[in-house]
Amino acid sequence: MCTETPLNIAMLSIHSSPLGDLGTINTGGMSIYVRELANELSRHGHSVDIFTCAENNGNNPIIQIGEHVRLIHLTIPEATPSSKEDLVLFLPEICTVLEDFAAEEKIRYDIIHSHYWISGCLGEMLQNKWNIPHIIMFHTLGLMKTPPGEEKKESNIRIRHEKRLVAQCQKIIAPTEREKNNLIDSYKAHPDRIDIIPGGVNLDLFHIESQDEARKTLKRESNTPLLLFVGRFAALKGLELLLEALALLQEHHTAELMIIGGNDSNDTRQQQLKEHVARLHLENLVHFIGRVDHQKLPLYYNAADLVVIPSSYESFGLVCLEALACGTPVIASHVGVMPDILDGTENGATIMDPDPRRLAAAITAFLSKKRSLNYNPESVRDSVKTFSWKRIGADTMHLYKNIAYNCSSGETTGQQNKKRTADA
Ligand code: UDP
Repeated sequence: MCTETPLNIAMLSIHSSPLGDLGTINTGGMSIYVRELANELSRHGHSVDIFTCAENNGNNPIIQIGEHVRLIHLTIPEATPSSKEDLVLFLPEICTVLEDFAAEEKIRYDIIHSHYWISGCLGEMLQNKWNIPHIIMFHTLGLMKTPPGEEKKESNIRIRHEKRLVAQCQKIIAPTEREKNNLIDSYKAHPDRIDIIPGGVNLDLFHIESQDEARKTLKRESNTPLLLFVGRFAALKGLELLLEALALLQEHHTAELMIIGGNDSNDTRQQQLKEHVARLHLENLVHFIGRVDHQKLPLYYNAADLVVIPSSYESFGLVCLEALACGTPVIASHVGVMPDILDGTENGATIMDPDPRRLAAAITAFLSKKRSLNYNPESVRDSVKTFSWKRIGADTMHLYKNIAYNCSSGETTGQQNKKRTADA
């Protein structure tokens, strides 16, 4: 048995901050994942430095966000990247700033864990310099974002980098078997390089409350069935499809829809969606709530009859877990983790290749089934009880330990590198 020392983990979340505004175009599930995982690792005594170039106002370059977790804002000298893709051009400079930080703080990291392909490219540079293991989680895959038959939306640069990273990094974490297969089929990843660790849900925060009380608090006390969408307003989230389904639904049943997320109300994407709502004459039924603080979301999930996730692609889909943890069923496209959890009974169902008609039919069927069933929110919640962050943390630590410790010496790769440098 090896005696293990706590690890120093460099977590890269370059384009998006774990403290960013959830629901805006670049900030969603990945930020939650990074924050929750880092805190779980910290609870076990490991130290995590999360590096980001996002949300940097220069006032607070280092923020302690957990007992052993720091968020470190990296500033690129004399440069302000204008977009997330622009960051790629500055990766050599970012790498230097990060190396200088580690040298000043006299930290030797044992593992690099990067999130999304842009951080992956930086992780690869650091992996080559520090000679330590690099784990990558892509969160989304460029090739999967374009449904078959559609014009390719993601840049060749992204796809090229992703393919190289798949071949170069030590380990890839895929959140589902489905995403693992995508990596193997579309990116030619070696199956042995991929570990499956799902996303999680904070089961204390997301809990069951009385629907009546939740509706009262939100001042939505009518008996009209209430649908809920939560997420970024990215095209792949399928909001137009949901609006068109709602318009069809009006022919038979009345349902209202709350939409949570988005940038600010002047955002062009939000304007586009509002115009779509007007074209479909749904102004009285669709409520744009704006972004909602993550801590307050349980109220909305509890008030809703059904959460709808009409995405054309999800790598995972945290919103599904959050809704179910609150006892609220989900109707979703057949993507991400949804087909693995939604079993067509009480907790909801998935739809293959949804179009407005199929989605409307599934929503109608589910709403009437929910009314007629002796529907039990507790059994809906039971379907996600295994997805605690505690378990996801434990799975990740297991992976780290397998690749970071040399069990014959009980030392980490970082410690061995340090010795080698000293001996040389
Ligand atoms: N979210 C939030 N407030 C909002 C909109 C979204 O807290 O106003 C959170 C939501 O609760 C979920 C995350 O953003 O945890 C979205 O994650 P998901 O995996 O569903 O989608 P992604 O953003 O990764 O595509």
